[in-house]
Amino acid sequence: MARADSTIMRTKFKGDLVYPGHPRYDDLRTVFNQMIDQRPAIIARCATPSDVAATVRFARDSGMPLSVYGGGHGVTGTAVCDGIVADLRPMKDVVIDQNARTARAGAGLTWGEFDAVTQLHGLAVTGGRVSTTGVAGLILGSGSGWLERKFGYTADNLLSVEMVTADGEIVTASQHENADLFWGTRGGGGNFGAVTAFDLRLHPVGPTVLGGMLLYPADLGPAVLTRFRDFFAQAPDEVGGAVALITAPPAPFVPDSLQGRPAIGMVLTYAGAVEDGESALRPLRDFGPPAADLIAPMPYTQLQQMINPANPSGLRNYWSAGFLRELSDDVIDALCGQHLAAPSPFSQILVIPGGGAIARVPDDRMAFGQRQAPFNVHVLSMWTDQAEDGGNIAWARQLSASLGPFLTGRVYLNYIADQGEDRVRSAYGPQAYARLQELKDRYDPQNLFRSNQNIRPSADPAGAAPPRPRRG
Ligand SMILES: Cc1cc2nc3c(=O)[nH]c(=O)nc-3n(C[C@H](O)[C@H](O)[C@H](O)COP(=O)(O)OP(=O)(O)OC[C@H]3O[C@@H](n4cnc5c(N)ncnc54)[C@H](O)[C@@H]3O)c2cc1C
Repeated sequence: MARADSTIMRTKFKGDLVYPGHPRYDDLRTVFNQMIDQRPAIIARCATPSDVAATVRFARDSGMPLSVYGGGHGVTGTAVCDGIVADLRPMKDVVIDQNARTARAGAGLTWGEFDAVTQLHGLAVTGGRVSTTGVAGLILGSGSGWLERKFGYTADNLLSVEMVTADGEIVTASQHENADLFWGTRGGGGNFGAVTAFDLRLHPVGPTVLGGMLLYPADLGPAVLTRFRDFFAQAPDEVGGAVALITAPPAPFVPDSLQGRPAIGMVLTYAGAVEDGESALRPLRDFGPPAADLIAPMPYTQLQQMINPANPSGLRNYWSAGFLRELSDDVIDALCGQHLAAPSPFSQILVIPGGGAIARVPDDRMAFGQRQAPFNVHVLSMWTDQAEDGGNIAWARQLSASLGPFLTGRVYLNYIADQGEDRVRSAYGPQAYARLQELKDRYDPQNLFRSNQNIRPSADPAGAAPPRPRRG
């Protein structure tokens, strides 16, 4: 890409343009997943919606590949490409309407940055479980978090978006304006444009909430998962959580005998008064006993960071996932067996309960459906050395294959690596996919926004196949 071409863009673009050789180039092209090593021709540091529009128009007119960078946590690495990156990270404004309990969030915020502001008002919305994750990619996938059984997915709380479409126009999409686009934006990822701001409904939460983890040795895995399953069949909406099949870290809160060994963490949160949480979580805390009981009142912002240490950036990542039809004894046996076979101590299997508010929204309300599954299994293969790619990727694939008969066939796309077009189609199911493809035909027929879990336009123009991010 000749630098001269980008002078055309300069006339409209007011942010910074970063090229190879710039002191911040390597830092800015880095994403969460260390496997990704893309070298963009230009990183356009967008400060305003007009900057984003200029970048989109420039990509369209020059024919350069385009990607949109929110928080860089997509494990597919599609935030970066070898063309032009619309880097939205400078767009970090948060505007709170305390009376209306709403927030307007800039598309470059992380969840930690967003939560810090909403908590000043004692408010929150379901957000990512790791505070460094971008708000943008998470919401566009639908947004799963600790509060979801009480308040629904993040997308269930989305009131409107401001976005730049493939023709470079800045539009609003909501229930009342461009409602079709709004339907697709809630679960359809970044397929229809670059979102510059999200308007979200907020709820009173905290500032102190009850949460933490109960830790058990791996040989109690089947009993813990069975207890967890039975508890969530009746649990109040306020209780959120996950079972995490992990390797116990060498941390002071872990008994010496368990450090570095396979372990089961029951992560629990309560979206309500601490005293009510104490009694709601009692049946689980009484079980075991756990090797460590780390459940305590804490600031909501701390709860939102409690699994950060287990999910550092800079590791190599291959993820898979699937919604379970039921958490049967056979599934529990498969999960516990594969847990012990994990080749890396960084790898995890999360079993996340459904139900509550997320199950009360009709499947066709928005692009993301799959509301009735009782549990979502998320397999996070994470390791350090490139030489170990094969074994770690194979582990995640084998685990997913062994769960195959127990899965609904749908998947939450934010939780998986690039697994091909068929997987994207099956994530939505035929009806929603057909509707998404109609939208793609209308809003992005040339597939300009293709660096993502891609919904192809039906004409699928030559040369517009989704790029496979370069791996390093
Ligand atoms: C450590 C970790 C923890 C996570 N925890 C959760 C969790 O608790 N719940 C959950 O639901 N997900 C979780 N995820 C998955 C997360 O939702 C996705 O990775 C999501 O894509 C991250 O958003 P981002 O903006 O950081 O990603 P990016 O990598 O910047 O973007 C991913 C893709 O989203 C699209 N995109 C991003 N921003 C925009 C925009 N403004 N406009 C249009 N398209 C855009 C682009 O197609 C881009 O390729 C987690 C991921 C990680 C790495």
